[in-house]
Order: sequence, then C-alpha cells, then structure tokens
Amino acid sequence: MHAKSSVKFPLKDIQFVLLDMDGTLLDKYFDDYFWEHLVPEKYAEKHNITLGKAKDELMKKYRVHEGTLNWTDLDFWSKELYLDIPALKEQIRHLIEVHPHVEDFLMMLRRTRKKVFLVTNAHYKAVDLKLKKTRIGKYFDSVLSSFDAGYPKESLEFWREAEKRLGFDKEKSLLIDDTEEILKTAKKYGIKYVLYKARASSNMKPRPSKDFLSVLDFNELMDES
Ligand SMILES: [Mg+2]
Repeated sequence: MHAKSSVKFPLKDIQFVLLDMDGTLLDKYFDDYFWEHLVPEKYAEKHNITLGKAKDELMKKYRVHEGTLNWTDLDFWSKELYLDIPALKEQIRHLIEVHPHVEDFLMMLRRTRKKVFLVTNAHYKAVDLKLKKTRIGKYFDSVLSSFDAGYPKESLEFWREAEKRLGFDKEKSLLIDDTEEILKTAKKYGIKYVLYKARASSNMKPRPSKDFLSVLDFNELMDES
C-alpha cells in the first residue's frame, strides 16, 4: 500500500481540481449494490429465470459495454434489460452516501479559491439524483458528464473536450479518481497531478495502486500549507 497517513500535495500550485463522483466522492457501495444485486433480482423476475442465471447473463452484458458510453447511459440499459433503470435507482436512493471528509475537503477547496469540477462517467440522470440526495452540487464550478462530452473518461478525447469546455490549465490541475485506467489517460493527456482514491466502497477492501499516489480518506489532503 502506497498510501501515507498524510499526502503532501503542492496545493498552492494547483488551481483546478477535477473530481470523479462514484467511488471517489461517493460511496461506490450504492452502485455495486445496484448493478450486482438489485438489477439481477429485477431482471430475474422480469425474465422469469433464476437469480444465478440472471447474474451470469448480466455480467456478460456489463463486460461488453464497460468503458464505453453505453455503460454510462441509463436509457440504454433500460432498453437493453427491459427495466426502468432510473426508477430502480430512485428506489434505493437512501443508499447514496458521501465518503468521509469529502465535504470538509470540498469546503477547503472553496476556501482556498480553487476551481472545482465534477468530471464523471455517470449519466446526467444519475448525477441529478446523486447531487440532489447528497447536496454537494453547490461546491462545483461546473459538472461535466462523459455523456455530454461524447466520450468516456477512459479516452483522450474526453480530456480534450473537458479542457475546451471547463477551461482548466493542465499544468495546474489535479484529478482524483478511483479508476486507474482513467488516471493513466488523464496523465497521458497532460494533467499534471493525479491521485488515486483507493477506498471506493465502504463495503470492500481498498485496492492498492502500484502506479499512482493514493489516498484512502480525504482527511489525508486537508493540510492547507
Ligand atoms: Mg469512479
């Protein structure tokens, strides 16, 4: 594990902070529960098959679309699975939670006058639901969903589009994300500072990163010096 109890980050050199939503700011437990439990359960009922078979079929479908825009598109999944995906998400909205110290961190960013952007692969319907539930929307100067950018965050085009739309200076930008593939792409694009969020879900062990500096908890970034 590379995570240290306190990560020294040159915050004064950073003007733009780009933050991922699911797994980074919000507990990924919600999404895991949704796709791995609730959807299989409803899919099994709908198609009159066993839960085991439903899970097998769904895992195959998930794998095909992972890392693509379809993956992020709730309406695509509604059609693909014959289920009302946004309505199902709404049903378990009580499970949407912010990770510890996220709000303190966001307040600190406002206090130190950083430009703060939410950059997410999540569909705008999911973003709406989650920002409404958690009330953290007010901390962002802007929100960019890969659905609006036209590319997933795993592709260089997303970052080109993001720079154009958000107007950040990549030499003065920090990205925090719980997906290493995305950090790799952002780094390749030229985002100077990237940081891996190692604890995505409260329900799972943190996954260490070999390649990136990591944080488990945002209180590790609270040093304002
Ligand atoms: Mg994420």
